[in-house]
Amino acid sequence: MININNLSKSFSTLEVLKDINLQVNSGEVVVILGPSGSGKSTLLRCINGLEELTSGTIEVSNIVVDAKKSHKERNKQIKKVRLHTGMVFQQFNLYPHKTVLENVIEALLIVKKWSKNDAEIKGETLLKRVGLIDKKDVYPSRLSGGQQQRVAIARALAMEPDILLFDEPTSALDPELVDEVLAVIKELAQDGMTMAIVTHEMTFAQEVADRIVFMSDGVIVEEGPPEEFFSQPQTDRAKKFLKKM
Ligand code: ATP
Ligand code: MG
Repeated sequence: MININNLSKSFSTLEVLKDINLQVNSGEVVVILGPSGSGKSTLLRCINGLEELTSGTIEVSNIVVDAKKSHKERNKQIKKVRLHTGMVFQQFNLYPHKTVLENVIEALLIVKKWSKNDAEIKGETLLKRVGLIDKKDVYPSRLSGGQQQRVAIARALAMEPDILLFDEPTSALDPELVDEVLAVIKELAQDGMTMAIVTHEMTFAQEVADRIVFMSDGVIVEEGPPEEFFSQPQTDRAKKFLKKM
């Protein structure tokens, strides 16, 4: 599903991703852990085409983005990649002047050119899935943070992405709102959704992950099944990280 080869990413002289190699298989849930500044967000942003690769290749759903190719060629590929990936951010980024349902169906109308009727039927199905059908006609400002994030998840699902990327989806939430969002993500995992999730919620990571990828200083330091990573981390850096959690 995702195949990252020799990916490096620099911001001017600062190399924040160093020769990353990572595969995510169809139906797999990979949780990316690591200290602040280790490059987790940058990695997700590279997968979704929000950052340019400095070197290496990223393949998503058989679409290859190659740092060696021309700007024009890369942009063409990135546009295609975006149609196959959904991303959920720490900040929900909903349109404040659109209702919940309008937020969810926006891309179906604009990108996929669906009819309003078809899009609304699909949007309502998705809002049922995240438990918010009763809020479909309200504006985001009337929702709690947890509800807004569930709308953002429904919006990401609307495009039927092959993979969903989550960047600390619960970090902006009050503690009592975290669980309702994590529950939705767990359900998606059970339904077989392919996901890459950056989170600081260790219990959740342990429950939802098929594989943990631990990053530090722009490199993947170790990876493995959660049972192994949490009970017997291999590296000093991972041990130190887990001790702090
Ligand atoms: P956190 O857990 O705090 O979210 P992270 O693992 O997501 O951290 P990144 O946001 O990927 O880390 O940042 C990795 C490094 O890249 C950091 O040193 C950061 O300062 C730097 N960085 C990120 N974005 C940019 C940018 N647009 N320009 C310059 N440096 C950047
Ligand atoms: Mg980050």
